[in-house]
Amino acid sequence: MAKIFCVANQKGGVGKTTTSVNLAAGLAKLEQRVLLVDLDPQGNATMGAGINKATLQASTYHVLLGEAEVKEARQRSEAGRFDVLPANRELAGAEVEMVDLAQRERRLKHALAAVDADYDFILVDCPPALSMLTLNGLCAAHGVIIPMQCEYYALEGLSDLVNTIKKVHANLNTDLKIIGLLRVMFDPRMTLSQQVSAQLEQHFGGKVFKTIIPRNVRLAEAPSYGVPGVTFDPSSKGAQAYIAFGAEMVERIKTM
Ligand code: ATP
Ligand code: MG
Repeated sequence: MAKIFCVANQKGGVGKTTTSVNLAAGLAKLEQRVLLVDLDPQGNATMGAGINKATLQASTYHVLLGEAEVKEARQRSEAGRFDVLPANRELAGAEVEMVDLAQRERRLKHALAAVDADYDFILVDCPPALSMLTLNGLCAAHGVIIPMQCEYYALEGLSDLVNTIKKVHANLNTDLKIIGLLRVMFDPRMTLSQQVSAQLEQHFGGKVFKTIIPRNVRLAEAPSYGVPGVTFDPSSKGAQAYIAFGAEMVERIKTM
């Protein structure tokens, strides 16, 4: 049975997609079978995995509206050695079009049930909003991975996300929990990074992942080649960190 994780944070540009794509590739390197679900109309995870979002026959949009099965819509990221349920801007329309559908917050959950046996991990790259799309991700998942930059405003907005997760847990999905906070784009030379990082450990204890993802230009360059950073430059510090994070996740699911 696949373990399903949302990579979520309603703050924009905090490293959700970079984490989704590179964790997928890192897990694939560890011989895990992975499906990456692009739940963001920006389609960044799709492009980052090397799939052209402009030419999709079927996508997350069609799956959510019941017009395609995951098996029909998924594609292979040859570069990352994982499967992708791709998305593009069409997905923005799903928010509105799902309004009249029954159990509209559980559409993704029900769709993923059909491919559950095909994967060890299903990772869901969420958009930067607490929207109906993100709610579909949270209803489908066993847990949430929250990427965070260690900066002054990092904690702001975290309480909104934590409250949303609590509400979903109470009303819609009792499986859901916060798996952990992932420190990303970390710059060890900055005193502020060190301070915020220490604060996170104090407040959240075991909910902070051991792995820290450094700021690394190779991770930022990789998407323009349509290749995960982990594949683009496997020896770079960023790639190594995401492979280590993959190993931490493999350990983590043994206790779930
Ligand atoms: P959005 O909210 O728009 O979906 P996001 O949370 O998915 O954004 P990303 O797209 O992953 O964030 O990252 C934002 C920017 O930061 C991108 O340009 C990405 O290449 C860069 N970036 C992410 N992680 C790192 C890192 N560890 N080192 C250097 N650059 C990074
Ligand atoms: Mg993104």
